[in-house]
This record gives sequence, C-alpha cells and structure tokens, in this order.
Amino acid sequence: MQDLVDELHERFAPLDDGAPSDSLPELAGVDPDRFGISVVDADGERFEAGDVASGFSLQSASKPFVYGIALERCGAGRVRERVSVEPTGEPFNAIGKLDEEGRPFNALVNTGAIAVADFVHADGEDDLPARKALLEERLGRYFGRRPAVDEAVLGSAREREHRNRAIAHLLRDHDRLHDPVEDTLELYFHQCALVVSTQDLANAGLTLACGGRNPLTAVRALPVEHVPALLSLMLSCGMYDRSGEWAYEVGLPAKSGVGGGIVAVVPGRMGIGVFSPRIDFQGNSVRGMRVIEALSERLKLHTFAVR
Ligand code: GLN
Repeated sequence: MQDLVDELHERFAPLDDGAPSDSLPELAGVDPDRFGISVVDADGERFEAGDVASGFSLQSASKPFVYGIALERCGAGRVRERVSVEPTGEPFNAIGKLDEEGRPFNALVNTGAIAVADFVHADGEDDLPARKALLEERLGRYFGRRPAVDEAVLGSAREREHRNRAIAHLLRDHDRLHDPVEDTLELYFHQCALVVSTQDLANAGLTLACGGRNPLTAVRALPVEHVPALLSLMLSCGMYDRSGEWAYEVGLPAKSGVGGGIVAVVPGRMGIGVFSPRIDFQGNSVRGMRVIEALSERLKLHTFAVR
C-alpha cells in the first residue's frame, strides 16, 4: 500500500493541468505544486506521500460535515423539509436553482450548504461565537483535532463572496433561512475558511467509513443512523457537476473543495485525503481526482465492485 501511494504521488506530480482557484487572493496565491496524499485504514495504519501535514483551505469539503451537524441537531426530517437531496448537474455556485418546493437541491452545493449553516445551533446558545465553536468542535471530532480558521481567507470571503450573499438573500426570500442572513453567511464563510491537512481529511473519511465514530480517538462525530444518508449524498453530489461520472467511474463517496482538497470514504475500510491546489473548471482538484480514481481502480474500491 505504501508503495502504491508513493507510486501515485510520483506519477501525478508532473501533471500540471488546472490552476489554483482565483476566487480569493489567498487561494490564488497557494504554491500550485503542493501535493499530498494520505490514506488511513481502520487499524489506524497510515500510508502517505508528499505534503501531508501542512494546512490548506477546507472550503466546500466542509459541507458534508456541517450537514452532519444539521442532521444531528435537528433530525433528518426537518433538514429535508428545507434542503432536498437531488444532484443538480450545475456548477457549485449556481444561483437561483431551487426545486418545485422552493428548496435547494442538496447540501453539497452552495445554496444547500448556506441553508444548512442556518441549522448549526449550540444548546440554548444562539450567539454567533457559540455557533462557530460548535462548528469547530464537531468538525474536530472527525479530524482528531480542532481546526483553526484562516482569518485572511475569512476576511476575503466576507468582502468578495457577493454571489453567496445573493444566494443567502434568495433563500431568505423563500423563507429557507431563519437566522439573520449575516449570521448564516458568517458561519458559512467560517466553515470554508477552516485550515486542514490531508491527514485531517483522511481521518475524517475514516470516521465516516467506520460508522461515524473516529476509530483513532474513539470519539463519535456523527450518530450512526445518519451515516448512510450522508455517504449516499457524497456519492451522488460530492463532486459538483462531475458527480455522476465520479460515481460511475470511481464509485466512492467523496467531497472536494476549491482549496484543492478532496476527502473520500471507503466504507468499512479506509479514509483518503488528497490535496493539490490545481483545480479544473468544475472546481475539483485535478491530481486529487486522478489519485483517488487510481486507488479505486487498483484496489477495486468501487462501492459496487464485485470482489
Ligand atoms: N467558499 C467557496 C464558495 O462558496 C467554496 C466553494 C467550493 O469549495 N466549491 O464559493
């Protein structure tokens, strides 16, 4: 396994298709050649190559975990009333696309993720610092350590992400947001601005692979009853408008972010975290996709593979 990870790192390092996201200056300025692969199995054994311990911006790879908080706090029924579970086939930041009931299509694109951020509430404490603390604490359960926020990325998002502001106001207009729009946006910007490593992402993937309990720390991150739904959503919607092809070819629940990270889950077996900031036009890390695709093919990890 270590040989395979080394081989894939070597094979895909020269691949220089794509470019770091230009959506925020902090993302655009990341060294495009950074590249790390982390795999961790259910026994806690790690197989890694490259840039695996340093941080990068979590961005949309936060979305499944925050959806998990919403499911845990408010129950699948209430969350589903406000956000559907259908793939969109459209770019992640598509604006205005709601279903016939006025719901965002799913929690892994911006409209749905912003609606979901609205559900992140601490017990009896609704002020923003308490909500941010809950967000960090819950995501920390998956990673095995509490993530820090990149204040520069957060500040830039507040200043520049007008499309997300527009989405939030549209949701408010459709009565899909209950908290003040500014608070919900701030939480969404905060989750995207968290800093993680590929090791954190691999740990998070492993936690989902192991029924929602992080086997490395023995801490539960998500009630077990929500795991199948979350993994189904990641399989059908986790790679933006490339999700259908991803499910078909690679067959692993995964989630990407424009920071260049991808987390993938091999149910019952392992977690995978890959980082390379060169993303394609759909927002997915080019090397990241190639690595996970190759791992799936070589190890027959496709969810529906006949072994
Ligand atoms: N913060 C980014 C946005 O909302 C996250 C998008 C992403 O990673 N696809 O536009």
